Amino acid sequence: MNRPDRNLQPVNLPSEWHPGSWRSRPALQMPVYPDADALAEVQEELRGLPPLVTSWEILALKQQLAEAQEGKRFLLQGGDCAETFAECTSDIISNRLKVLLQMSLVLVHGMKLPVVRVGRFAGQYAKPRSADMETRGEVSLPSYRGDIVNRPEFTAQARVPDPRRMVKAYARSAMTMNFVRSLIDGGFADLHHPEYWGLGWVKQSPLAGDYQKMVAGIGDAVRFMETLVGTQIHDLKRVDFYTSHEALLLPYEEAQTRQVPRQWGWFNLSTHFPWVGMRTAALDGAHAEYFRGIRNPIAVKVGPSVTPDQLLRLIDLLNPDDEPGRLGLIHRMGAAQVADKLPALLDAVKREGRRVLWICDAMHGNTESTSNGYKTRRFDNIRSEIEQSFDIHAAAGTRLGGVHLELTGEDVTECTGGARDLTEVDLERAYRSTVDPRLNYEQALETAMLIVRKHAQ
Ligand code: PEP
Ligand code: MN
Repeated sequence: MNRPDRNLQPVNLPSEWHPGSWRSRPALQMPVYPDADALAEVQEELRGLPPLVTSWEILALKQQLAEAQEGKRFLLQGGDCAETFAECTSDIISNRLKVLLQMSLVLVHGMKLPVVRVGRFAGQYAKPRSADMETRGEVSLPSYRGDIVNRPEFTAQARVPDPRRMVKAYARSAMTMNFVRSLIDGGFADLHHPEYWGLGWVKQSPLAGDYQKMVAGIGDAVRFMETLVGTQIHDLKRVDFYTSHEALLLPYEEAQTRQVPRQWGWFNLSTHFPWVGMRTAALDGAHAEYFRGIRNPIAVKVGPSVTPDQLLRLIDLLNPDDEPGRLGLIHRMGAAQVADKLPALLDAVKREGRRVLWICDAMHGNTESTSNGYKTRRFDNIRSEIEQSFDIHAAAGTRLGGVHLELTGEDVTECTGGARDLTEVDLERAYRSTVDPRLNYEQALETAMLIVRKHAQ
């Protein structure tokens, strides 16, 4: 919360918490590092490096999320399931930024609300896995846990967790942040020049007409306003962009957790808006312990097995003061279960009068495997989960304040369906994800358009 008195003086400092207090709790999904001294050395090195984000930015985002809770903004959170070191390239970063900017333009224009833009990048390198070991034929090796931990190749050497990879992940995050900040500060997101972030493909897309019409309309509106006030409106030249990742690898997150001058408490300065994944969100687990003590806005993934009582206890633990903008709940039930599972949670939170930002992750409850062995998601299921979520919130008297999506600015074929109606056979053409299937640029833009249509109903 951004009230100055609250920034300087805690209402309640979390009791007996410190950045390493998670170590006294069961920590799921942690790699076993073979060399404890090497791990300690890396943590020491990370603690000495400059932070990636500042407490001012974190508190500004918290304020925006508080406004989203009140229906005055809408959150767009998106990016890859997992970043990789190899894909820290100019094209991939700028294309992902372009598609997020285009989606946000569609949302701002259609919903008539400012959008909070949060990328799933600059740190999204650690992955939870369903099994500790992966078996192929006779051979069992530790699972790949994201580039921050080990390498994906199926060799014994590649799968050994290497703490030095944390320093590499940190450096890649810094490079990504630096490039995104430079693009935005240099005018990449300038509303006077939406062509800067136009993607070549839009011209060939079945969605091109709608998108171009909207961009032209915005251009007219901008020129009209500027004629009216007699000068260029500088606020239209840049946007705020924030980062998020799943704060899964606790030794890494701990080393990024710091105190800053003239602020009470502790901040995770590796990202603005970390979230706890579904597999590690247990009330008595190490991740909940870590998250309760940092001052960042945080989010928790909420899957179909969570009961109203568990959710309320988690809210008490993570946001005991009911601070505005502090807590996002990212429900990810799947199109088939959302109508059954979500209402009781909404009712319980509403009944207790707790302040949360409800966010729909329409990806993770809709993952399936094809007969030819690909992990995929059907666009129709993603659409359905988003549309149902809007309806379920409306019926409960709560508000869907944002979406959380896995997407890329590349022309991949990982999810089926969408405007081009990709089929299972198409998946072979450009399936690149090493983890979950992402919306391609066109499916991502289509998702923004369907959100607008649904919101208008
Ligand atoms: C993810 O966001 O990539 C993820 C693993 O999600 P969840 O924790 O919801 O399964
Ligand atoms: Mn994922």
